Amino acid sequence: MNKTPINLQIGIENMTRCPGSCQGCLMTAEERKTGRLWSPDVLKCAATWIKGYLDHWFINQSQDTIESVSLFLGPGDHLELVDDEIRQLIDFIVAATDNRATAIVTMSAIGKFEIIKRKIDLFYDLSVHYGLSLFPQFVFDPLKSMRNLFKISYAENITYCRTKFGSVELTINLGPDVIEKISPKQLHQILVENDFRQIELNILPTNQSDQIFKPIWIKLIDWVIEFYNRWDLDQNYELNFAPVLYEIMQLVQGQNLTQQIRSHIKESLWHNLYIENNGHIFYAQHGVVGNLVPLSSRFNRLPVGHIEETVDKGLNDYFHKAEPMANKMLARYMRSAHCHHCEFRNTCLMTGCFSFINLNFIKNEDADCPLMIKPLFAAIENRQQEMQSYQGLFSRNYAQHSSIVERSSGRFLMPPESDAHVKFK
Ligand code: SF4
Ligand code: SF4
Repeated sequence: MNKTPINLQIGIENMTRCPGSCQGCLMTAEERKTGRLWSPDVLKCAATWIKGYLDHWFINQSQDTIESVSLFLGPGDHLELVDDEIRQLIDFIVAATDNRATAIVTMSAIGKFEIIKRKIDLFYDLSVHYGLSLFPQFVFDPLKSMRNLFKISYAENITYCRTKFGSVELTINLGPDVIEKISPKQLHQILVENDFRQIELNILPTNQSDQIFKPIWIKLIDWVIEFYNRWDLDQNYELNFAPVLYEIMQLVQGQNLTQQIRSHIKESLWHNLYIENNGHIFYAQHGVVGNLVPLSSRFNRLPVGHIEETVDKGLNDYFHKAEPMANKMLARYMRSAHCHHCEFRNTCLMTGCFSFINLNFIKNEDADCPLMIKPLFAAIENRQQEMQSYQGLFSRNYAQHSSIVERSSGRFLMPPESDAHVKFK
């Protein structure tokens, strides 16, 4: 009997404090300022819930193949934690995953080298001690990382982390600041000149940040398309969302049977779990640009559970509420004349666009595409043949294609302020 490969992704807002100021951040400025690591009690609750969720797949669903499990911890700066908190976090990862997942921990790399080094060392030593598959993920803050003085410490911190972990991951939350500071061509050059293996791009407009996104949304989608097209010319590093979108397109595009699509949507909800900072549990999906888009309160969605519920009840609800949610999503798309007849409807439904459709700035029902995202799908479809030949280079390991992984042992080179050819030293 053929086994179905399953890739599980779990996003957890266990830590919201961050000194960064990315305009495309999922969190509010207040959350970044006041946030802290979950208390030991909350960490314990969450670990029990996540372990129960993973047990469901590893034990009860043994007829399926678990291909990868990714635990995204963030989106705050875990280098803000004191040593005891780092120990608590590692204990949490061990308890929640039983070493069955790759943990990706967000960090901002903003700070004095000596302090960052000591914390990186602690993360590394504890991961080795517990045999954890753990990767730091550095968020590229375009404003701070372009400042001359800041560049030096930023680069030094990231370089040290790479020598310790063998690779570092880098991600960009796209917002007005990024597309105004860096052109797609410049970013491409930075990636090539620094021999990066992968870039993770995310677009996550929320109900708090939608007014920031509103004036630049079309420009942002154009920026992504331009970057995608530049990348596709030689594909000399991985682009996180491209292979996933392509796979999803292959899976669902052209399917007219509502029952089939409903089933695919339901499975995408089962396989992608998101826990907000207050312990509420939400479904999530792959992002149209990004790895994980939560169907969470940040997008005006209701929770489907809470980590304080017993695992049995919580899991029961989690799995059973997916079908009504899939029906709701289908109905929403059927109500829009444009979406109903759109050739990308199924892909759109499978890639977290439903999260965006509730945001105020996006309610443009008269437009040809209410989300104004169709040109991106079209660009990817146009390149499907080229991508097909490239697909073999990708693994379905989301821990790997979730973010940039710096490949070589060369320096980490920062973007130049004005000339994309000038390497940072
Ligand atoms: S580094 Fe991450 S958490 Fe901090 S502001 Fe930027 S996107 Fe937000
Ligand atoms: S691409 Fe646009 S028109 Fe097509 S289904 Fe998505 S939102 Fe609707």
